[in-house]
Amino acid sequence: MEAACMEITILGSGTSTGVPMLGCSCDVCRSTDPHNCRTRCSALISYRGQQIVIDTGTDFRQQALRAGIGQIDAVLYTHAHADHVHGIDDLRAFNMSSGGAAIPIYGLPSTMDLIRRNFRYIFGDEVASKFRPRLVPWDLGGNFSLCGLPVEPLFLQHGPGSSCGYRIGSFAYVTDCNGISESTMSRLQQLELLVIDGLRFSSHPTHFSVDEAIAVSARLGARRTVLTHICHEVEHQRDTAKLPSGVEFAYDGQRFTLPLPPNHSLQE
Ligand SMILES: [Zn+2]
Ligand SMILES: [Zn+2]
Ligand SMILES: [Zn+2]
Repeated sequence: MEAACMEITILGSGTSTGVPMLGCSCDVCRSTDPHNCRTRCSALISYRGQQIVIDTGTDFRQQALRAGIGQIDAVLYTHAHADHVHGIDDLRAFNMSSGGAAIPIYGLPSTMDLIRRNFRYIFGDEVASKFRPRLVPWDLGGNFSLCGLPVEPLFLQHGPGSSCGYRIGSFAYVTDCNGISESTMSRLQQLELLVIDGLRFSSHPTHFSVDEAIAVSARLGARRTVLTHICHEVEHQRDTAKLPSGVEFAYDGQRFTLPLPPNHSLQE
């Protein structure tokens, strides 16, 4: 049987401020290399004509335009920080273009609680429904199937809080974290593609540094590792030379195609 393919697009590779950062005139923020122009951290998974977006951050509208996204079938949220959620209202356009169909959105219960609270106009009864996105929130309790793909939520440490990574087949997306438990590490074996938080070279209280992300990748033996959520201290071309083979910096618009086993199945 022919293996089905999943396409991953890095919609945004930047940290919470984006790069260039407002008010900054450093060399990277003034760079004309598009690899140094990083919108807020997000990714798109395309599979058999269906589109799942991971996070709808502040730059979601521009990212969707740039990637030519014509529909959104589901959203996976990593956590409720503004740089990952605050483009949520732009999902409304996809409700309209799909004839009013609601979009399911998923996240850890703590994340969904915050999203419901921060966007009461979407989830409460106060506003007429045609003026707000039609979203169906789901609290994640474990592995599940989404658009025919096996999705494994992964609990991650993000400073004093937490975030949710996602493994889908041989792909894992692990942003906004500075610690991964042994039990989560054991679920990240045999990856073809690991997209992981690698904010900057110096350490940070809530994000992996480049070296910390490289150490995680080396332990996991991921075939290809892509660092994301990058700040303006990283100059793409100059700093790529500092990375070991198999590790690279993400850039906006970067795409990957990954095969899925024809009879991939969920391990509950
Ligand atoms: Zn973030
Ligand atoms: Zn700067
Ligand atoms: Zn965060």
